[in-house]
Amino acid sequence: MVHDAANPALDILKSVFGYEAFRGQQRDVIDAALTGRDALVLMPTGAGKSLCYQVPALVRPGTGLIVSPLIALMHDQVTALRELGLRAEYLNSTLDSWRQRDIIERLRAGDVDLLYVAPERLLAERGAQELAGVALSLIAIDEAHCVSQWGHDFRADYLGLHALRERFPGVPRMALTATADVRSREEIVERLQLDTPARFVASFDRPEICYRVAAKTDQRRQLEAFLRNHEGEAGVIYCMSRKKVEQTAETLQLSGRTALPYHAGMPAEMRAEHQDRFLREDGVVMVATIAFGMGIDKPDVRFVVHLDLPKSMEGYYQETGRAGRDGMRAETLLLYGLQDVVRIRQMVDEGDADEDRKRVERSKLDALLGWCELTTCRRQALLGYFGETAMPCGNCDVCLEPPETWDATVPAQKLISCVLRTQQRFGGAHVIDVLLGKQTDKVAQHRHEALSTFAIGAELDEKGWRSVLRQLVVRGYLSADPDRFNALRMTERARPLLKGEETLQLRRDPKPARAGRRSASGAPIEAMLDPASAALFDVLRTCRRRLAERAGVPPYVVFHDATLIDMAQRRPMTLAAMLEVSGVGEAKLEKYGGDFLDVILNAEYQT
Ligand code: ADP
Ligand code: ZN
Repeated sequence: MVHDAANPALDILKSVFGYEAFRGQQRDVIDAALTGRDALVLMPTGAGKSLCYQVPALVRPGTGLIVSPLIALMHDQVTALRELGLRAEYLNSTLDSWRQRDIIERLRAGDVDLLYVAPERLLAERGAQELAGVALSLIAIDEAHCVSQWGHDFRADYLGLHALRERFPGVPRMALTATADVRSREEIVERLQLDTPARFVASFDRPEICYRVAAKTDQRRQLEAFLRNHEGEAGVIYCMSRKKVEQTAETLQLSGRTALPYHAGMPAEMRAEHQDRFLREDGVVMVATIAFGMGIDKPDVRFVVHLDLPKSMEGYYQETGRAGRDGMRAETLLLYGLQDVVRIRQMVDEGDADEDRKRVERSKLDALLGWCELTTCRRQALLGYFGETAMPCGNCDVCLEPPETWDATVPAQKLISCVLRTQQRFGGAHVIDVLLGKQTDKVAQHRHEALSTFAIGAELDEKGWRSVLRQLVVRGYLSADPDRFNALRMTERARPLLKGEETLQLRRDPKPARAGRRSASGAPIEAMLDPASAALFDVLRTCRRRLAERAGVPPYVVFHDATLIDMAQRRPMTLAAMLEVSGVGEAKLEKYGGDFLDVILNAEYQT
């Protein structure tokens, strides 16, 4: 397969994968592996980690072994590689024993380029026998952060993977992850016993993702307005509870969208079916709990919505990172409200983790809440959290529509005083009623119309007060006690504010986006193309769908959107010109080149 012996890595990149040049640190990672060195590779989702191990595995003699935690995805990964003309296989219990034996024979004969195996299989007695005597070119340990006991994806089986060092001496091992957490980096090196690994830490910036955050005012309408900018596109909507997942999916289905629920309480077959449809069909919206997503490498997810607050910046970064893996424009939306804050704080407090762990979780939650209420660039702060410095990005809600801030010192003092006057026994709704001077039953029952804080809040309406209340809770001036009907309490932090020793600037909640107006960041991919190319892109997509159905693979396995867009713009008229398109390698040219060429040539005649 190698045409250019002097530069075999570049040659494989071009002829097999159809790409012109390495990206970012790919070249350096590959060089390290080619010299036989262990490596730790931290790159954000979509940066191109797979090529980092696939290319050296193909250049070096022997089979490249890829350890991956998700059996369910191996089939698609291997299918995509076979489409490139590679001899790729996976070994797991979903294959019948005859097939497994066949693969093992071919492994021993050196007829397999890349082999995917789950850690438990590899570490079992059986896996040891199967791989005994097989010459390996490289061992890639994907999703390597699964060794971290502190992380949310911990897999006990990963802890045994250090054994590979003894079992395959001299074979370079590469650990890869998209988790930015500094602590888990050290854990990976230690637990996998990497030998003085070359370290590659890419910037975790995802410039293609536009980050948006909004206070929950009318969840349904806010979601509708957001989705209107993403008609026909694939996306994920995360919800905290299973019930909300099902309700949200149903609402979206009623409005005519292809929306599928996914959560751990569903029958396994249905979950698998929904995941499969999400991967295979164009434009499916997955409504899911965080049980969904790890290892899903669907490249054309165009949006990720959180209808409830995630637990940490790490979790949020990882979940949003599933959008825009193909490097093309994507948009995220996080909606959060006071209820979320109270509920998550309660979950942390009442969880069975030890005190140290709880402290960590609380500070992680606070970091995320602070980020939600930011009035400066979100990307800058997000990257700052992961130890990177950056300039304001121009591609987040704060940069695009700078929020107003206002001096809320006096209203905040009024609200806190009112909490104190009502004996810290009531939730926000009642306290706001008192401020607004409403004659409710509760007011009458507790004689709150006699309080000095009754009806002193005419400067804001109910919505305005709720915004102040939320921000006071988020910033820790007030706390809500979930065991006492969310009764509000003043914290020590509020004392200087109440005494007038401190002032307070708050964010003015923007009005919900008006329907029908497209935000630039949310415009569909076609909007980036001139009308003729957009029309051609559409026809190319139809052709892709047809070919994918015929081959029984997801459309992006045939070609990614980025490839179709390049094709629509270049309009190659010959097979040789088709090979110039980014993402068209020799195997795919042979398989699909003719079909797409026909489409382009016919489209030309029409215009
Ligand atoms: P990761 O595993 O880091 O999330 P992938 O390996 O799935 O990322 O790659 C993301 C996308 O970038 C894929 O569509 C891949 O084909 C593409 N890609 C990777 N490297 C290159 C390159 N050098 N040139 C062009 N496209 C690339
Ligand atoms: Zn910004």
